[in-house]
Amino acid sequence: MKIHEFQAKQILRQYNIPVPMGEVTDTPDGAFEIASKLGTKVVVKAQIHAGGRGKGGGIRLADNPQEAYEAAKAILGMRLVTHQTGPEGKIVNKVLIEQATNIKQELYLSLLIDRSSSKECLVYMASEAGGMDIEEIANKYPEKIIKATVSPVTGYSPFHARKLSYGLNLDKSLSTQFANIVKALYQAFIEKDASLIEINPLVITEEGNLLALDTKMTFDDDGLYRHPEIKEMRDVSEEDPLEVEAVNAGVNYIKLDGNVGCMVNGAGLAMTTMDLIKLAGGEPANFLDVGGGASVERIEKAFRILTSDPKVKAILVNIFGGILRCDRVANGIIEAASKIELKVPMVVRLQGTNVEEGRALLKNSNLKFEVAEGLYEAALKAVELSKLKV
Ligand code: GDP
Ligand code: MN
Repeated sequence: MKIHEFQAKQILRQYNIPVPMGEVTDTPDGAFEIASKLGTKVVVKAQIHAGGRGKGGGIRLADNPQEAYEAAKAILGMRLVTHQTGPEGKIVNKVLIEQATNIKQELYLSLLIDRSSSKECLVYMASEAGGMDIEEIANKYPEKIIKATVSPVTGYSPFHARKLSYGLNLDKSLSTQFANIVKALYQAFIEKDASLIEINPLVITEEGNLLALDTKMTFDDDGLYRHPEIKEMRDVSEEDPLEVEAVNAGVNYIKLDGNVGCMVNGAGLAMTTMDLIKLAGGEPANFLDVGGGASVERIEKAFRILTSDPKVKAILVNIFGGILRCDRVANGIIEAASKIELKVPMVVRLQGTNVEEGRALLKNSNLKFEVAEGLYEAALKAVELSKLKV
């Protein structure tokens, strides 16, 4: 789960990582008021779940409350397009008004889980070339990325901060401040079950202090039950509506780029199904797991989610009937498919308890299902159908 910058900064503050003073608002009047209260030059920042706001016009400096009002008026309600939002952009509903900072240097600092290492390590990444995306830094200045891996068994040690500090060529006068930030980052990461905390830029101010000017945080969804205060920060208006609907229906759904929609019970079987779609020369449109003991109601909901993705050109249903028998699944599919107007071809592959009854029900229904027996056969059919021009 992602949160907004202003929320992430509240968390940094709890861990004594210095952030600029500021407040969030959803009106230009609010921006005027906050800027008056702060009594300094301010920066008005669009709050959306995407980076690159600066380049997209979502961040503006304002010398006085009136300018803050104007900036907020321009930014609120705008459709902000950045390299992370896609061409459709994101509507801005909130702005953060903060004391403006006199920047001497912009640094990059993050902590994340290194999934490429087999040891499930955490890794700090830091760079002197802050302000731009880590991907851009990696392209332009790969030699300027410093890494320090942390084993979750032994945890943070001052050695990590020293390694990063040397790599960043940090002035000695900043060592203690920097080490405190690096350490606090680890503590926040572990205690909050984060999967990414990025501070970009972490700036050195003209006054000679370190300050987290922008931050991004992502949390492990499976850890959220332990953090009701973070769960509360969820902003569903920033999320894919289909994924939100899936969460509410208790269905594991992740949208992908292909056009073969899949509905499967069990995560392992869902992964296998996606693999076989690829092997058959197609691309899955989603990962969708209705769960091991999925009910007919849940299948129906999953079905609605699948069919509301306009990219889906064919559907592959792959269900292993255990406790939920194949004949009940078949009835569920028929019922759901007759309620929703099916515009794309659908291949159904059932296996398990009462499979013959299930297949017979599908074949005898007046809806046009393709019934397959083998999994690869089903994948081939679905891919073939997805390529037909309708
Ligand atoms: P992002 O574009 O979404 O990553 O938003 P950031 O908060 O990182 O801001 C982008 C850039 O705007 C920063 O890298 C800074 O160069 C600039 N910026 C942000 N806040 C301030 C500020 O208070 N003062 C100054 N001078 N520049 C700022
Ligand atoms: Mn940034």
